[in-house]
Amino acid sequence: MTANRGRTIFERIIDREIPAQIVFEDDDFIAIRDIAPKAPIHLLVIPKRHTERVDEITDAAEMGRLWLTAVKVAREQAADYRLVVNCGEGGGQVVFHTHIHILAGWEKG
Ligand code: 5GP
Repeated sequence: MTANRGRTIFERIIDREIPAQIVFEDDDFIAIRDIAPKAPIHLLVIPKRHTERVDEITDAAEMGRLWLTAVKVAREQAADYRLVVNCGEGGGQVVFHTHIHILAGWEKG
């Protein structure tokens, strides 16, 4: 069972209560720069609909839109990139609002 951790930092960013560097936004998703980048380019693609972790998304079309958005944003930033999803505390997840990491830019450095 997943504990109820309350409203996350990403919901507060989506609602403009906390600033973030936004690189993409549409009705369903927002993409921001990670505050503590682990690569030269480190973005987070975040669905606006709240789920705690990616495996709570059970609709194939919704999951497809999430991944297609991540790929589109990644391709706008770099030719090559890594997509990462941390799922659950044991998987390294810290913020319990579903997101995909885009890591890229090593070829420039
Ligand atoms: P997780 O480990 O949950 O997959 O990753 C959460 C990510 O969110 C981390 O890479 C962390 O640096 C990033 N992060 C945490 N708080 C903030 C914040 O307030 N603003 C932004 N832009 N990123 C954040």
